[in-house]
Amino acid sequence: MRLRSIRARLTLWYTSLLTVTFLLLGGTAYGLLVYSLSHDMDAALSSVAEALAKQAPRGFATSSPPDIDEVFRRFFGFSPLDRYFEMFDPLGRRDPRWPRPHSGKMPLTPAALKNASEGLPTFESVEGLGQYPVRVLTMPVIEAGRVTGLIQVGMSQESLYETRRRFLLTMATVLPLGLLLAGGGGWVLARRALKPVDRMTEAAHRISAEHLAERLEATGSGDELDRLAKTLNEMLSRLDAAFRQIRQFSADASHELQTPLTILKGELEVALRSPRSPDEYQRILKSALEEIDRIAHLVEGLLLLARADAGVLRMDDRPVDLAHVVEEVYAQAKIHPRAQPIDLRLGPVERVSIQGDHERLRRLLLNLVDNGIKYTPPGGKVTLSLHRDGEWAALQVSDTGIGLTPEEQELIFQRFYRAAEARSRGDGGAGLGLCIARSIAEAHGGSIQITSAPGHGSTFTVLLPLHS
Ligand code: ADP
Repeated sequence: MRLRSIRARLTLWYTSLLTVTFLLLGGTAYGLLVYSLSHDMDAALSSVAEALAKQAPRGFATSSPPDIDEVFRRFFGFSPLDRYFEMFDPLGRRDPRWPRPHSGKMPLTPAALKNASEGLPTFESVEGLGQYPVRVLTMPVIEAGRVTGLIQVGMSQESLYETRRRFLLTMATVLPLGLLLAGGGGWVLARRALKPVDRMTEAAHRISAEHLAERLEATGSGDELDRLAKTLNEMLSRLDAAFRQIRQFSADASHELQTPLTILKGELEVALRSPRSPDEYQRILKSALEEIDRIAHLVEGLLLLARADAGVLRMDDRPVDLAHVVEEVYAQAKIHPRAQPIDLRLGPVERVSIQGDHERLRRLLLNLVDNGIKYTPPGGKVTLSLHRDGEWAALQVSDTGIGLTPEEQELIFQRFYRAAEARSRGDGGAGLGLCIARSIAEAHGGSIQITSAPGHGSTFTVLLPLHS
């Protein structure tokens, strides 16, 4: 069976561990108790036997019977009712003169007799003498190095058995009770400890893409669950921001597409309203084509960014002569009508090659040069240059244009962002050019840096690794 709740599993583990601990402790205590009781009984029996032996100092045959009650009392603190005592001659024959409350009951085993003949004592547990087994010590009486007789003392093991029984009874009562208490306590504690998890689960159920502003309740205690709640909340904040960005992006993209489409539709409707001259149709179709170009350009940019986001931007990986790319872009921009009032120049161009995609790098540089031209007033200067900077190739586009504030510099790489000044100039960009440039630079393992001052111009530096 698989337990689905952590609470149940915790309680089960806890109780199982406690059971094992209890059993180990109980077992050890029980073993020690039995050992020490048996040891004490054997020691007492030895003392009694020795005391009795001393009372027969002149040998077995001539000695008078000792006061057994007195001896037992001395060593046990009392004289047990079931006390056993026998004397034998060295050959194992009973001495008929001595008082024998259980005469003939204690057997003299061949092993004990053999040990005694060698001068050794023997401890045995004998069953069948009473309700409980009797512990019997057979000890030789040695006088002048000779065994003159055998003393046998015994004592019922009742107290040992009773103590053992009471101990086991106590354990059998206390153990389940203790386990019940511990298990119950563990269950309640686990429930209290895991309560925040239940609350988190409920809160998490409520949170959906539409309600990402909601947060999990953090207790502020700094414990594991509090940290979990904080981490999840941070994740929710990131998700929230990402969702907002996506929504904003969709709205901006739709808006940017809608504008040229509306213009296109308007132009075509006007053209159809009444018959026109071929020249007029030509002009309208040209204008329509321009709008279609704008739409195509925008869609192409969006597609490139989407592919870059998804990590599936297809890129060539061939040697690219960057100086050649600079010259190409320069030549292309130079003849553009918008560049005419601008002083577009080629600065120092080192011959540098990298591995990459020629077409994409051309697009990157063209975006930057296009911006330089767009945001530089007539009479201003835009310079392209290329040099090696350590392990990097540095492509630079500097202009003497409108420049950007530090705050704007933070934002210009966001999609569809356009600075207020650029917006007011109505230069028609959608705010994707720099995002695309950065995506291409990053796809080559590079980056774009900017230095700019409002009213003084900007320098965009593209750093591309020489060795990919
Ligand atoms: P856009 O199509 O508007 O040019 P970009 O992504 O290329 O979009 O640029 C984003 C914004 O960054 C621009 O709208 C403009 O505000 C600012 N910007 C980019 N290049 C320059 C520059 N050379 N000088 C001043 N501002 C610039």
